[in-house]
Amino acid sequence: MIALSNDGLISAVRSLVKEERRITREILDHIGEVARRRLFADLGYSSLFDWLVKDLGYSESAAYRRMQAARILQAVPEASVKIESGELGLTVLSKVQTLIRADERRTGEKMSVQAKSEILAKVESCSGREAEFRLAEHFPDLAAEAVKEKVRAVGQDQISVQVTFTREQFDKLKRIQELMSHSDIEASNATLLDAAMDAFLEKKDPLKKVIRPRLAQGDTAAEVAPVFERTKPPSNQCKANTSKGDSQIAAITKSTGSVKPSTRNLVLRKSDGQCEYRAPDGRRCESRHLLEVDHIHARALGGKNSIENLRALCRTHNLMMAEQTFGRKKMDSFRRRE
Ligand SMILES: [Zn+2]
Repeated sequence: MIALSNDGLISAVRSLVKEERRITREILDHIGEVARRRLFADLGYSSLFDWLVKDLGYSESAAYRRMQAARILQAVPEASVKIESGELGLTVLSKVQTLIRADERRTGEKMSVQAKSEILAKVESCSGREAEFRLAEHFPDLAAEAVKEKVRAVGQDQISVQVTFTREQFDKLKRIQELMSHSDIEASNATLLDAAMDAFLEKKDPLKKVIRPRLAQGDTAAEVAPVFERTKPPSNQCKANTSKGDSQIAAITKSTGSVKPSTRNLVLRKSDGQCEYRAPDGRRCESRHLLEVDHIHARALGGKNSIENLRALCRTHNLMMAEQTFGRKKMDSFRRRE
């Protein structure tokens, strides 16, 4: 029970909200600096978002809003005082940043700081809904992208995903339905997508493939290490993937001789489809996204394509390791091209 008069109570809440805004501003400034120094990578997290959720304990939506707000404040630092005054809030800042990134992806060009400031000025002191209208006016082409896909648990083992398809994507789903009609005339959308996902994973997931490696020139005998067959995928297995990023990083670090697909598959299986980076405190990165094959002893410095010298790293940690070997400046120039 708070022992305050009615006036005293209102006044106390007002000053607490003011304090909350000041702290929010400080938190965002600090999160932005952690991002700039990429400290989350040292700690064994593949992204700022991952660190905010798993280390700081924010919910996914709270982490996303803070990450996006911190990013726009890094670009337009003068907007930070407007959080304290209440003219800009976390949700609006986050929406602005999301649309700016979507616009940059669409145009392939970085938006200027001036243009970002102008957008922020348009949504100052707006409610969330009013800000949405003004942003839709400013980014008419991106209105559809602003409709976020909703993912929520609806039971112990069930997740509801709200997705918006393009006409073309929906036609593909219909085609799968036609093909499946012999075995299941009333297949639900989840069943149709399940069939499509199985077909994709069967073809693309290195953890599902049974590999029969052969010795070839440049390989060591260790490459034909016993291969296990996985029958049950680990959680998040559908995220396990490889990208061409490792070869791009290899290119920038002037290494030569790419890793053969069979060796790459072995490395990914050895890692169980999870980044192998370990932080100084022993924490292993949990990322299964954009896994790349990294040379422990850099290829450019004489490292071999042998299985003992290879490991799976997420893009963040592959870049971090490359940075330690080749310097941040060199890898920053690569990062800007991402
Ligand atoms: Zn990682």
